[in-house]
Amino acid sequence: MVDQPLPPTELIHLTYDGNFQLDTEATVLLCRVIDSAAPTNNGNNTNMNTADVDERTNNISINEHDDNDNQKEEKKVMRTNISIELQLDVTTMHPQGGGQPTDIGSITTIVGMNAFNNSNCEGSEGEEDVVSNSPPIAASIHKVTIDRTTGIVTHAGTISVLPDDDNNNINNKFPLNSRVKVSVHPQNRQLLSECHTAGHVVDAAMDKCGKLLKPTKGYHFLDGPYVEYHGSIDVQEREEFLSRLQLAYQELIDEDIPTNIQILSVDEAESLCNRLAQNFNMADFISSPTKTTDNKDGIDAGSGGVVRVVTVAGWNCPCGGTHVRSTGALKERGWGVKGLRCKKNVVRVRYGPKDETD
Ligand SMILES: [Zn+2]
Repeated sequence: MVDQPLPPTELIHLTYDGNFQLDTEATVLLCRVIDSAAPTNNGNNTNMNTADVDERTNNISINEHDDNDNQKEEKKVMRTNISIELQLDVTTMHPQGGGQPTDIGSITTIVGMNAFNNSNCEGSEGEEDVVSNSPPIAASIHKVTIDRTTGIVTHAGTISVLPDDDNNNINNKFPLNSRVKVSVHPQNRQLLSECHTAGHVVDAAMDKCGKLLKPTKGYHFLDGPYVEYHGSIDVQEREEFLSRLQLAYQELIDEDIPTNIQILSVDEAESLCNRLAQNFNMADFISSPTKTTDNKDGIDAGSGGVVRVVTVAGWNCPCGGTHVRSTGALKERGWGVKGLRCKKNVVRVRYGPKDETD
């Protein structure tokens, strides 16, 4: 049997509304069991709160099979975490890339009438019954990646299984064409969106200070985010420039400027973003038009590649990340410019939330 190539995964976060959407229903296109021998302590790699589901399944197994406390303990210890990979038709999760870390969250089976995508499986009553009688299975997702060539997103995570689940049983936890709910961890997403958006505000603040340098790298991880530019700032000018940059940054946050996200043709995106400094290589951001036919801007996506242009603090930039609704959302955690480093024609602007040392 020859495997059919899977279609690219629809990335909900790319549209404006989708950028803020945390949950979606999706159809399972592939589920791979990566290992089935990992011992467990009921631990959880992602700090996700999937304990409610785990506890429910635990309780069911204990009530059915065990009568005394010793046996209960034994059952809990023997519970196993299995690593799996899931590919879906659509996801709300942001795959790691473009300097932004992966989303984490959960993928949970849907039980009952809507357990299967019925669009191409007429008469699958039997299958529906099997799933509808099972408790929901939750996979805790700790890493989401995208294959840039195929556009296919892979959700890597773990499920917790019982000792009497054999391999066959485990492989059927997320059957082909079954329906699942994808849920992004909301607090983690909020933090990552703030961190990423705060990086754009550095660009806007640099522009506001009259320093239009070519951005070369953005690192929007929480352990020390920064943006780098090609160029230099005179030694005697640096201290004064840093003060001006910090002030400009805070003004942009105080102005509470709304974020905009548009899917544009390459020409439109170039005229919007590439002004003055030719500061982006647009080719890095052109995506296949396959999944953008429903974009809200009326672009004929079939005529060529399209570019997602994000406007933060009035600054237009081709970008694939997730963002907060306006610069005012960066106020609560006190995001700001932390420092400046110039070395070998690279200007690095460190930024971050307010901390005890500020
Ligand atoms: Zn962005």
